Amino acid sequence: MARPSFQAAPGTRDLLSPDTDRWRLFTALFAEEAARAGFGQIVPPMFEDAGVFTRLGEASDVVSKELYDFEDKGGRRIALRPEFTASVCRAYAQNRQLTPWKTWYVGSAFRYDKPQKGRYRQFDQVGAEVIGSHDPDLDIELIALASRFYERVGLTTTQGQPNSVTLMLNSLGDKADRPAYLAALQSHFQANLGELSEQSAKTLELNPLRVLDSKRREDAELVAAAPILSDFISDEAGAAFERVQAGLAALNIPFTIAPRLVRGLDYYTRTTFEFAATSLDAAQNAVGGGGRYDGLVADLGGPDEPGVGFALGIDRTLLACDEASVFAAPDTAVDVWVVSTTGDLDGLAITDELRRAGLRVDRSFDHRSMKAQMKAANRSGAAVAVIVGDDEAAAGTVSVRSMRSDRQSDDRPQFEISRSEMVGPIKELLLP
Ligand code: AMP
Repeated sequence: MARPSFQAAPGTRDLLSPDTDRWRLFTALFAEEAARAGFGQIVPPMFEDAGVFTRLGEASDVVSKELYDFEDKGGRRIALRPEFTASVCRAYAQNRQLTPWKTWYVGSAFRYDKPQKGRYRQFDQVGAEVIGSHDPDLDIELIALASRFYERVGLTTTQGQPNSVTLMLNSLGDKADRPAYLAALQSHFQANLGELSEQSAKTLELNPLRVLDSKRREDAELVAAAPILSDFISDEAGAAFERVQAGLAALNIPFTIAPRLVRGLDYYTRTTFEFAATSLDAAQNAVGGGGRYDGLVADLGGPDEPGVGFALGIDRTLLACDEASVFAAPDTAVDVWVVSTTGDLDGLAITDELRRAGLRVDRSFDHRSMKAQMKAANRSGAAVAVIVGDDEAAAGTVSVRSMRSDRQSDDRPQFEISRSEMVGPIKELLLP
């Protein structure tokens, strides 16, 4: 076959059924969990003034290298959102809400990254954020929301299973705790500069914290030996972190303390966390993460309200589900296939009537033979075929045939019933 003139751009994909059905079920389950926890949905714009995102910190890759930004026809600097948190904070600053404001979202994010399995330029996230409270119980509530949701799709925070996700937890302390820690980090890396990768040496000049985020093998040893933040955090931040750990233990949500977990964006304070799927390769095993961002709303011109939230990557979580053989795509077969050989409008009308009765119904087109239509009915996976030929049309009836593959074909019932009374018996055939 000739290659079509256009292909989806690098790092983007077409999602087709049944993957889209699975995607919809995934997001519906997230919406349900979020609603159970009292979160209302936000649908922010897909693009913003680029400044909303550049505030996230020039030293992070997401901002410095991966931002999809451009000038629009009005001369504005615009960026496609690389994540949702900044948009949620901007939205809060613009449309003040009662606090704590609990909101969730679903949608695409865009990052000009090197495409590979589990890493795309357009990818989807679900997430939740709470603005306006310092209470660490909200950190716990958010982690619990993510964990309960993972459970619903068949993953588990219990360790040692093929479908495990590991919850890694850290506290980055408060902004005031940062300078002493940064100085300690700076002198640790400076003293060993020769052993640091070239990229990390550059990052060090911008923000030593980001060096901890390096996944480069050359840096691994130095990163592992770096001073840890928990030795530098204030009593208050320390107490909040204790509360988070106690709360997770009370809810039976296992976690691992990861003292060097800093995450990819600069705005995090206090609690930070990440979920890593056991079934995925280490480079792309982060299926979700989040934390506190107590200065971000103020940075975006809003009131000085704290915030905490998380985002889960849909594409990557589904890959983890594939690898763990959980959360298969839902069955998308129709219930009924309508077979009509009258050449009249019977097939059309019966299909419409059954759809209006709430059934999933499809039919053959192009005036195919009875045999070809029955073949299509079989292939469709429909549990019932409704057949109308000249005899049925003349008598005002339809023939109903069970197609269920769990029965022998000779004991699959077929009967003729009045067309005006067909819905009840058809529904009965569809019962499990
Ligand atoms: P982050 O804001 O980088 O922590 O992203 C949150 C989650 O989104 C990650 O844990 C991933 O599951 C997912 N994610 C981030 N970047 C990508 C990408 N380029 N492609 C696919 N998923 C991604």
